[in-house]
Amino acid sequence: MLEPGNAAEVARFFRYVVKGPGPQDCWWWVGAVGNDSYGRYWLSRNGRQRVVRPHRYALALALDRPLEDHEVALHQVCDNPICVRAWEALGRRAHVVAGTQSENLAGMGAKGRGGGKAQPWRWREFDRAGRVARSRRAREALRHGWDEEALRKALWHSRDPTLF
Ligand SMILES: [Zn+2]
Repeated sequence: MLEPGNAAEVARFFRYVVKGPGPQDCWWWVGAVGNDSYGRYWLSRNGRQRVVRPHRYALALALDRPLEDHEVALHQVCDNPICVRAWEALGRRAHVVAGTQSENLAGMGAKGRGGGKAQPWRWREFDRAGRVARSRRAREALRHGWDEEALRKALWHSRDPTLF
């Protein structure tokens, strides 16, 4: 179970988040990225170290309740593994929502692992290693703040440039 963190922990979390300026943009995690292409956020609670995936952490915060282990944090809009936009804002849907593993698999099928058309960059054409590399390139591009040109270069570095 993942409980929402305290104010200091949440403030530290957001130091690793770069929000795209557009109303539908992803909120990008720019901290560590693991070998599954998802982010990593280290917590210290009750004297114990713990590592969590930032999109799950964000979802617990947005829901303002603990996230159970069986609950899946789904990227319903963007399929961007390092997106942590779990909040609705300005009438726009959250990118990360709570679901079940079966919904996760169904969504992958329906979206072709592509996450719809909301974002010009799609992840489905990448295998696991490709997704990890892409997450890390994006993270590096945004590490010092929003930089659309650097991000586009990072994301467009694809084996199939015609996709864009
Ligand atoms: Zn997103």
